[in-house]
Amino acid sequence: MSDLHIYNSLTRLKEKFVPIHAPNVGLYVCGPTVYSDAHIGNIRTFSSFDMIHRYLVHSGYKVRYVRNITDAGHLTNERGEGVNRMESQAKLESLEPMEIVQKYTVGFHAICDLFNLNPPTIEPTATGHILEQIEMIEVLIQKGYAYSVNGSVYFDVKAYQENHNYGILSGRNIDELIAGYRDLDGQEEKKNSIDFALWKAATPAHIMQWRSPWGMGFPGWHLECSAMSTKYLGNEFDIHGGGMDLKFPHHECEIAQNEGCTGHQGARYWMHTNMLNFNGQKMSKSLGNSILPAEFLTGNHPLLDKAYSPMVVKFLFLQTHYSSELDINIKGLQDAEKGLKRLMDARKEILHAKYDVQNTNDGKSEMDMQIEKLCIDCKEFMDDDFNTARVIANLFELSTIINSIKGGQINTKELSGESVALLRKTFDAYLLHIFGLQPLEENNSTALDQVMQVLIDLRKDAKVKKDFATSDKIRNELAAKGIQLKDEKDGTVSYSMN
Ligand code: AMP
Ligand code: ZN
Repeated sequence: MSDLHIYNSLTRLKEKFVPIHAPNVGLYVCGPTVYSDAHIGNIRTFSSFDMIHRYLVHSGYKVRYVRNITDAGHLTNERGEGVNRMESQAKLESLEPMEIVQKYTVGFHAICDLFNLNPPTIEPTATGHILEQIEMIEVLIQKGYAYSVNGSVYFDVKAYQENHNYGILSGRNIDELIAGYRDLDGQEEKKNSIDFALWKAATPAHIMQWRSPWGMGFPGWHLECSAMSTKYLGNEFDIHGGGMDLKFPHHECEIAQNEGCTGHQGARYWMHTNMLNFNGQKMSKSLGNSILPAEFLTGNHPLLDKAYSPMVVKFLFLQTHYSSELDINIKGLQDAEKGLKRLMDARKEILHAKYDVQNTNDGKSEMDMQIEKLCIDCKEFMDDDFNTARVIANLFELSTIINSIKGGQINTKELSGESVALLRKTFDAYLLHIFGLQPLEENNSTALDQVMQVLIDLRKDAKVKKDFATSDKIRNELAAKGIQLKDEKDGTVSYSMN
């Protein structure tokens, strides 16, 4: 079907991708914890998996793509202590935890639409799978890999370690981990500090709690992904993905839970996308260095010199391999904006051009062969662990050729009709279908134009009512943001001064 090779974090090798039930592929990606707005770092991870999902589909696979919503269980401390993030945010915003979940799930979907990320085929929630999680815990207790204490249940890492390998994914050594955890508080209940929570007893103060064989409580974060991935994809499935920061402890714990419960590690291929950094530091809400997608739309953030289209941001991501770190800065964004425009212009040119091409029986010219190689290599780069950066480099070379054809430096008689068709197909396949990029003008301009028209109409109404304070305010505040309103005889038009 394809000659795809994937870097498998579990084996630390680039391996040929052989699905268990080709042409079906099972893909599980850890979804967002819906207690705050997703920042642009989160979106880098979800964009990477969107590209991976799109390429699998493009390669002819029938993909079941499961990406969960974490709406319970994710505590402020990843080792199973602290408070539920949805609950603590609910207190802050004076809302019900499920209102927090709804608010940020809707917000997340809106951002995915803005970035043209395809929805998963199944989007399960942790709260919708409490029974499955309880069932998994029961099996783990029965097999001797978990124990209950004071209404909570913990995974017994040392018992598991007797015939398995906790640390197989992250390469961590459990004795060192135990030594590192020794000084931390809140360990009294556990047999060993390294044990992690599968179920936590709830106090009456917890709003989100469920009945279980161990009393009222709520599930641990790691467990939900084990329960939901195996429910929808089987005990053994093809690919499990998430950001690099989830490798330990989240994915390590998932593997231990799966192996302990079903005898399988879950996925065969574990994929980890790398972090988006800001000034060399991982972008994260807790570090206070995050940029929200909405801030790119307005340009209203100290890092940004102006507004950037989500497509430009996505193009910037794709110029770096998903497994490399990426530092976001203005220069990178400016270059990405120019680069994306260049490629989209080349696509437009080749799409609409009517060239006087060479005769069909003239054979292939050197130019034809050059174009063919650049186009065919794109597939090889994608098959080599989704190397989008190298595909983009080839598209730039192809756009130089297209510009030379347009400028007359290359005679169209040097081209066959097949080459023109191949160029059209390649630009459409990679830019639109696999990278999910939209031509810049089609993306935001209509929405922005409509918003601008609302402002222009408001100002007109204010002037008619002789409310000059309002009409001047609209004009001056837009001017301060670099947008000038000019009254012309056919009506008011807006000009960007940037
Ligand atoms: P969360 O909502 O915190 O569970 O994170 C959702 C996804 O975003 C996870 O797969 C994280 O690994 C990923 N993520 C978090 N921070 C970053 C970052 N700075 N760059 C890239 N991915 C990130
Ligand atoms: Zn997960």
